[in-house]
Amino acid sequence: MLAHALRSVSECVVVTDMTDRILFVNDAFLRTYGYTEDELIGGSIDIVRSPNNPREITESIRPATFDGGWSGEVLNRRQNGEEFPVSLSTSVVRDENQRPIALIGVACDITERKRNERELVQAREAAESADRAKSQFLAAMSHEIRTPMNAVIGMTDLLLHTALTPDQRDYVHTIHKSGESLMTILNDILDFSKIESGMFGLENRPFEIRTAVDELIKLLLPKAIEKGLALRYQIDADVPAIIEGDVTRFKQVLINLIGNGIKFTEIGNVTLRFSARPGAGGGVEVICEVRDTGIGIPRNKLDKLFKPFSQVDASTTRRFGGTGLGLVISKRIVELMGGTITAESIPDRGSTFRFSIHTKTATPKPAATNQAPAPETNLASQYPAKVLVVEDNQVNQRLVVIILNQMGYEPDVVDNGTHAVIAAQRRNYDIIFMDLHMPDMDGLEVTERIRDMTDIRMPWIIALTADVLASDREKCLNAGMNDYIGKPIRRDEVYAAIHRWAQNSV
Ligand code: ADP
Repeated sequence: MLAHALRSVSECVVVTDMTDRILFVNDAFLRTYGYTEDELIGGSIDIVRSPNNPREITESIRPATFDGGWSGEVLNRRQNGEEFPVSLSTSVVRDENQRPIALIGVACDITERKRNERELVQAREAAESADRAKSQFLAAMSHEIRTPMNAVIGMTDLLLHTALTPDQRDYVHTIHKSGESLMTILNDILDFSKIESGMFGLENRPFEIRTAVDELIKLLLPKAIEKGLALRYQIDADVPAIIEGDVTRFKQVLINLIGNGIKFTEIGNVTLRFSARPGAGGGVEVICEVRDTGIGIPRNKLDKLFKPFSQVDASTTRRFGGTGLGLVISKRIVELMGGTITAESIPDRGSTFRFSIHTKTATPKPAATNQAPAPETNLASQYPAKVLVVEDNQVNQRLVVIILNQMGYEPDVVDNGTHAVIAAQRRNYDIIFMDLHMPDMDGLEVTERIRDMTDIRMPWIIALTADVLASDREKCLNAGMNDYIGKPIRRDEVYAAIHRWAQNSV
């Protein structure tokens, strides 16, 4: 019975005497190694051993076998010469006097398992390298796109502060706002990985819903008109004029939904409706609805909409373009705003996307956007200062210098960290505008060096940063900077920063 049982197990079993001569093999052994019983019985077990195993292993097997047993992986050889990996366990059979009389080997062909393991490792390496390539690509793209966008936004900002006809002002304003929206979208694509890792924060400031919506409509109307679609909106009377929240993200959700509405509609219209109801905890819930009369979405595809990189129909990518990220980001933003987003649709009739946000009403405060240019006050005569600009990018450099010139300042300019340190040492600057990323020495290090100087009057250092995260701003302050302004650099921000310096230096 035992012999029968041994014969039929799926592992390969072999029994040898103390001189390695084969006494018994089971059926699995014969199948796996490709021999007949006659070819093996009485012969040496060496026939299945491979000379290609590391010596330390082959030499350790026998002593270990006598010392309680050995198990591990080795190479074996089939009758046709093919080598293959096995997982092997060996043990000793002893007589009643504890004298060893035979050796047992149980082996399992692990060719398949090894191949799977190898494929898994290869797949993981390929995925990791693709992921690295993606990150590098995103980083490079971010830089490449940001730089010209900074110029578009910065220069239109300057243009807005010159004498323009109302029409011209409106056009430039639209360019300016479109540039900003593009920048936002770019940042969000870059931030997608941050969203995934839960490192995505929102601002909380009062903003006017109507102004935000007006800007959106202005931005998107040309697209709608081009397709012959009507784009309408309605804000119910109970919607508060000013709410607290992150206006950029709020607009981004709407841009995405309206943009999709326009994209996926050929005839008819896209309508927005804003309503409100009392929210939990004394706040207010603002509900935004975007309805279109477009191609619609099949019922069974609705739940896929909010998953990354999913598009209802792969062919839509070709027809309509898009990343498939818009709705994912939107969903996350809405959730961070304490709300939910849903979609309803009837194929060929149209879709309705609805989202809510939880917020507080805020008291009116004059909006800074779209206003007439501030009077050209000569700030330099009011607050004289020796100013240094440290910036390696030529366009940004020019931008800051033009802005400062307009305010009456005559700044010195350097384009790298080393020169910044030397300049700071030589002349006692009152204010230094400091770029963060420079090829030789970054702005943080330059700041630390300046802070270590003993024989100068300490300047007020203002970081010029494209990094939007609060943690990056903290880094600036920790390095010894006094203030920061974000890129794209805006005249108003430079103005405000100089004011803050003046307030602090009295
Ligand atoms: P993108 O539009 O960049 O592809 P989104 O996440 O915004 O990415 O949308 C994902 C997919 O959902 C779209 O590709 C489209 O198939 C579908 N979709 C979104 N909005 C609409 C809509 N209003 N009408 C029809 N299909 C839509």
